[in-house]
Amino acid sequence: MRPVVLLAGWIARVSESRSEFAFIDWIRSRTPAHPSVPIGIGDDAALLRVGQAGDCLITVDMLMDGVDFRLHETDPSAIGRKALAVSLSDIAAMAGKPFAAVIALALPKMRGRQVAERIQAGISALALEFDVALVGGDTNAWDGPLVICSTVLGTPTSHRPVRRSGAKAGDWILVTGDLGGSILGEHLTFQPRVHEAIALHQAARLHAMIDVSDGLAADLHHLLDESGVGAIIRAADLPISEAAQRIDDLRSPVEHALGDGEDFELLFTVSPDDGRHLCAKPPGGIRLSHIGEIRAERGCTLIDTEGRHVPLPPLGWVHSLEDSDPGERGV
Ligand code: ADP
Ligand code: MG
Repeated sequence: MRPVVLLAGWIARVSESRSEFAFIDWIRSRTPAHPSVPIGIGDDAALLRVGQAGDCLITVDMLMDGVDFRLHETDPSAIGRKALAVSLSDIAAMAGKPFAAVIALALPKMRGRQVAERIQAGISALALEFDVALVGGDTNAWDGPLVICSTVLGTPTSHRPVRRSGAKAGDWILVTGDLGGSILGEHLTFQPRVHEAIALHQAARLHAMIDVSDGLAADLHHLLDESGVGAIIRAADLPISEAAQRIDDLRSPVEHALGDGEDFELLFTVSPDDGRHLCAKPPGGIRLSHIGEIRAERGCTLIDTEGRHVPLPPLGWVHSLEDSDPGERGV
């Protein structure tokens, strides 16, 4: 997930070896396959084979004060809501139906009970809205900042989850909703696209899907890497949010749409026939934009608003893992 505080972080790309993704690749390469795990590390959620009960999707997210939200300026109910919503979004990205959640809290001792009750109010309201049962968790208090960890379980719909790895050359690349500028508020209030994903999955054969959490360009690169393909994206076709156009800084609205993250929209690929069909008649009236195509050659190209073809790097948030001990430098 792309944190909201360090907005400039997307520009300052950390070197590959120090990124969270290099660490995840490292874990992945050391984690043996397991017969009960058809989908393991590397997608938006894992798929577990749970005996006779069938298959179960599982995902976990951790949100930290000062990184993913600011407790001193936010109603804790919005923070609780966000914690559950980001995990619902990962289940949506697999076209799954969430059914249960487990929440772990590290509460600041100061005002701990009060904050916890507001967090719970936000979680309960969203859980009710999406028919998700809160089945457990863990509650701790400390002198550190608020941390919330949410785990959500889901079931695959239409028999199979949609993975990041199924994109094929020639596919249309589609995205739901609007992109960019979530820092102005949408990162707390976004609607996880659970119903939309299920409706799309029923209406068409989705080849690959991911939710836009790190940034459109970064998450597109995740999907391309998993699928072993490349892409071409047209800046003119990006659905740029009103917030992205309103932010007054050094970056253009297109750059915000490409790199901001925390839009929690669905980015997916389908055959051109299915793409035409979905765009002509979006199920449930979902807003869909056809932003580009998958190509066999690796790499990603952007046709900018002036019609120039430029390389599109994986703009977006990356957690940087420092080589030195941060404690030594008093950070
Ligand atoms: P998302 O943005 O969809 O939540 P992430 O980029 O956080 O996905 O994670 C990518 C993949 O790496 C996921 O499959 C996730 O479960 C896995 N992953 C992340 N951190 C760890 C970790 N510390 N141990 C094992 N798997 C991890
Ligand atoms: Mg995700």
